[in-house]
Amino acid sequence: MRGVKKVDLPTKVCPTCQRPFSWRKKWERCWAEIRFCSDACRRGTPRGTAQKSPGSPG
Ligand SMILES: [Zn+2]
Repeated sequence: MRGVKKVDLPTKVCPTCQRPFSWRKKWERCWAEIRFCSDACRRGTPRGTAQKSPGSPG
């Protein structure tokens, strides 16, 4: 039986969206400083929960 062995990547929980995220190649140099799963969360506006401004066109 063959299968791709899952690598034990370190994970963290994003304090903004409370969702776990895994280590990424692009973070290999700064993983220790990574706290958020995305730039949006780093700015405090996780996708999906962003509040729409009332009166915005659209
Ligand atoms: Zn997040």
